[in-house]
Amino acid sequence: MKIATAAGRAVIVIGDATVDIATASEGCFGPDMMSVLENWREFRDFAVNITEGTDALNMAALQQPVSAPRQVFAIGLNYRQHAEEAGMEVPEVPATFTKFASSLSGPFDDIPIVGSSVDWEVELVAIVGQQADNVSVDDAWSYVAGLTVGQDISDRKLQMAAGRQFSLGKSRRGFGPMGPWIVTPDEFENPDDLALGCSVDGEVVQDARSSDLIFNIPTLIAELSSVLTLYPGDVIFTGTPSGVGMACTPPRALAPGNVLETWIEGIGTMRNACV
Ligand code: ZN
Repeated sequence: MKIATAAGRAVIVIGDATVDIATASEGCFGPDMMSVLENWREFRDFAVNITEGTDALNMAALQQPVSAPRQVFAIGLNYRQHAEEAGMEVPEVPATFTKFASSLSGPFDDIPIVGSSVDWEVELVAIVGQQADNVSVDDAWSYVAGLTVGQDISDRKLQMAAGRQFSLGKSRRGFGPMGPWIVTPDEFENPDDLALGCSVDGEVVQDARSSDLIFNIPTLIAELSSVLTLYPGDVIFTGTPSGVGMACTPPRALAPGNVLETWIEGIGTMRNACV
């Protein structure tokens, strides 16, 4: 199943059509995505019976799929080659920081460029579907509502300016495009092995597979939930592979006029213009 937020309302996406969740459930779930995720198991049981869309899918109306997450986690240095290109050692626990929720934006929103060191980072993003405390790796996938595409846009100068306290430089306005929708784990042949990448003006700059993650999604759910509580709707940016602009010689950065396209196998493609 694919679910999205369109014009402020949670919808199921079926082919080229959508179903408004609040309307179809007569108000049991929705209208916003947090209400759907808070009642995820009940919603799944309800949604099994919905097989046909009622409205045309309007891609331009899609917004970032999780309307108001309580927590947004992002993991640094989670692909070996990216740790090497960043000149950092592979950490023994997930290198965890936050993107403040106000930085999250839609799959086709513009990215406002500030300064000359704004960089791209394609990331597989997991959305939590059930409160998680001390979850085992084996059980972890059952706590995931679904997966979506993310860009961990980064102001490298600001990111490094405060002793590598990443969160501010990762949280400028519009620095967290997500979408176009959330795809449930059962839709993937192997949700731990998905191709992901991004291009700038058509030139592919990142191209990798999520099977190369050092801490994969089940391990991240287990590690994070051993320290703190994960809540429905929490967002986990799982880290970026190699190919970021700062590792190029000379370093590259996004500039107004660039178009950034970002994709993950089995999910979809985002398109964000830099302004
Ligand atoms: Zn990142």
